[in-house]
Amino acid sequence: MRKSLIFPGSFDPITYGHLDLIKRALCISDHVIVAVARSTHKECMFSLEERVEMIRGVTRDLQGISIEGFEGLLIDFARRKDVKVIMRGLRMISDFEYEFQMALTTRRLAEDIETVFMMPSEGYSYLSSTLLKEAAVLGADLSSFVPEIVQKRIEAKLKK
Ligand code: ADP
Repeated sequence: MRKSLIFPGSFDPITYGHLDLIKRALCISDHVIVAVARSTHKECMFSLEERVEMIRGVTRDLQGISIEGFEGLLIDFARRKDVKVIMRGLRMISDFEYEFQMALTTRRLAEDIETVFMMPSEGYSYLSSTLLKEAAVLGADLSSFVPEIVQKRIEAKLKK
């Protein structure tokens, strides 16, 4: 595996599923850039700055990781960073179709950039930020899905 890889997403907010993947990525790569997308097709609960700050907080003890916001095309960001590997998570079969399209579109636009997929620990294979936010609005206990500081931030956001 190359020295660095990019792990892109909205991370709205970061969950134990994302963290599981970041740790796995660090086993196969010296450096992981967590690339936080400013605008996504989903409506975000947290601003880009808040999302970046939360990821920094919960990855403080990890070596070889940087967290950066980006706008525009991911391949342009990858080129600016001189990184040729994009990592994505595959949870369930339902992720596959979208990820397959994305990976092949990326390849068409940038032949030199490769997308790799990793699977999380099975306990997180159903976890998504979107579902988590829906459960939070309904008052669910989030402690098994997100680190405590993220849980507190979600609760504070919902009280506003
Ligand atoms: P979400 O679909 O949860 O909003 P993001 O846009 O933040 O996810 O996803 C960023 C990346 O993290 C994607 O590659 C996604 O597949 C991956 N990912 C998100 N949640 C998990 C999880 N529970 N396990 C493995 N990968 C995940």
